[in-house]
Amino acid sequence: MPLFQNAVFHTTIANLRDLPADSEREIAFAGRSNAGKSSAINALANHTRLAFVSKTPGRTQHLNFFTLEAGKYFVDLPGYGYAKAPEEIRSQWEGLLAPYLRFRIPLVGLVLIMDSRHPLTDLDLQMLAWFAQTDKPIHILLAKADKLTRQEQALALRNVQAGLLEIGERCTVQLFSSLKKMGIAEAEAVLGGWLGIAKKNEVAPPVGLRTEKTARAKNRAAIGWSARTGAAKTAPNKKPPAKG
Ligand code: GDP
Repeated sequence: MPLFQNAVFHTTIANLRDLPADSEREIAFAGRSNAGKSSAINALANHTRLAFVSKTPGRTQHLNFFTLEAGKYFVDLPGYGYAKAPEEIRSQWEGLLAPYLRFRIPLVGLVLIMDSRHPLTDLDLQMLAWFAQTDKPIHILLAKADKLTRQEQALALRNVQAGLLEIGERCTVQLFSSLKKMGIAEAEAVLGGWLGIAKKNEVAPPVGLRTEKTARAKNRAAIGWSARTGAAKTAPNKKPPAKG
């Protein structure tokens, strides 16, 4: 079961004084516009449209909070890289993003989404170098990895790892594809660790809900299962036939 599948939209924040007061831990998601950030949040939440709320008019420049469980949040930051007026960029960065990223106490780490075909753009590098000063961890998702061959994927991963040496060891990286659901378990392990949310072990189904393979041969007719020839022989719970 996906770790973050109970995620729901919580609120849109345009002003620092409106940040949720009950937050214990939150993870921010950043990246260039179109890198695949909304799709990655949706894939992690096992939802098709959850993060598209961040793309609705009036919300694109704000912080969008998604509740994972009580006191735990994903925070979708505005995508960067679109041609905006310099004054607009500066006021958004100085008024909202920089103080949020630098001083928000419940913020436990940053996920940076990069298109695996065009990683480490200038803006990505600026964001990495700047956030690394907080001493909080950064996890990079090399998104849209399905667009690369296996060989290209390995190369992209190696190149980005090499490019991150300067940023420091608190920065990790992995391949990811929302489309192919690739890299979900790896990302869940990192983010779940940051948030203190552990994956529960899968619980075996109750005996009454046994699957076709384990259903007792003698109960098959009762549950409407038509036995195939020879199937009864392999049924694990079948008792040996009574003699005589
Ligand atoms: P955002 O602007 O960073 O939130 O990016 P989106 O999540 O909206 O994705 C931008 C575009 O890339 C959309 O057309 C998505 O369908 C596409 N996209 C996102 N993730 C993937 C992926 O894993 N594989 C492929 N092939 N396309 C993707």
